[in-house]
Amino acid sequence: MSTSLGIGEFEITTVQDHQGMDRNPVEIYPAVPALAWDPYREFALDPDGFYRSQWRGHLISSSNGDRAILVDTGMGPGPHDHTGKPGELPGSLNALGVSPEEIGIVVITHTHGDHIGWNVSYDAGVARATFPNARYLVARADWDHYSAPENSNEAFEHSIRPLEALGVLDLVEGVHEIRHGVSTLPTNGHTPGHQCVLVESNGETGVVTGDLFHNVAQISEPDWCPIFDWDTTISTRSRRELLDRAEREGWTVFSGHLGIDKSIGKIVRIGETASWSAL
Ligand SMILES: [Zn+2]
Repeated sequence: MSTSLGIGEFEITTVQDHQGMDRNPVEIYPAVPALAWDPYREFALDPDGFYRSQWRGHLISSSNGDRAILVDTGMGPGPHDHTGKPGELPGSLNALGVSPEEIGIVVITHTHGDHIGWNVSYDAGVARATFPNARYLVARADWDHYSAPENSNEAFEHSIRPLEALGVLDLVEGVHEIRHGVSTLPTNGHTPGHQCVLVESNGETGVVTGDLFHNVAQISEPDWCPIFDWDTTISTRSRRELLDRAEREGWTVFSGHLGIDKSIGKIVRIGETASWSAL
């Protein structure tokens, strides 16, 4: 089990925020018959038939003196209803020896609440950037969609909208080079602007996948879509394309929600079937 791996000159590290909700696969994947889970039960579900999603971000750091990049900021301070406990992301960063001031860029894979929760902190109702020296990169397609009154929601208004007035928001489109060797990679469908973050260095490639998949069974069954996908036709296409490429080119995959014991892995083929091999 790894929580941190080197990709060339970079290090990519999981930054735990909180234990997510227990998920019932039949509710989250309503188009998938319960029996279809049987081949994956052992590694994709817990003994009780549920699975536990995790909330986290990923830190991309390098030894060349650049400020670190944080991909997603978890669910936020809480306390969260299902545990009664607060989120842990700042403490997890602190344990890695990284202060909020040392983050130079926050990249948001998509603007759902469990990926943006620590973007902004509130003091007597006044918003400030939790990472005061960071530019915040958000996909323009997500901004355009969720900033429209008919699609807006509490999480967006709380954690994304204020970034504009704070002057720290950069809207990005397509493949956007964040820094030499680090770029966004559009993988739309989960949301209109969902994007992965690609890290390429010294012949190695890592990819931070946000919500491209929620459960490890989707590696073998890329057509399975959780109810959270905005457009399942597009999300399926994005998932297939990225997982195929990750397998073909031997990428290391840093997942958004898998359990910490298997959150980083590679796509390997066992017979006809693509499978997750945790690192
Ligand atoms: Zn998510």
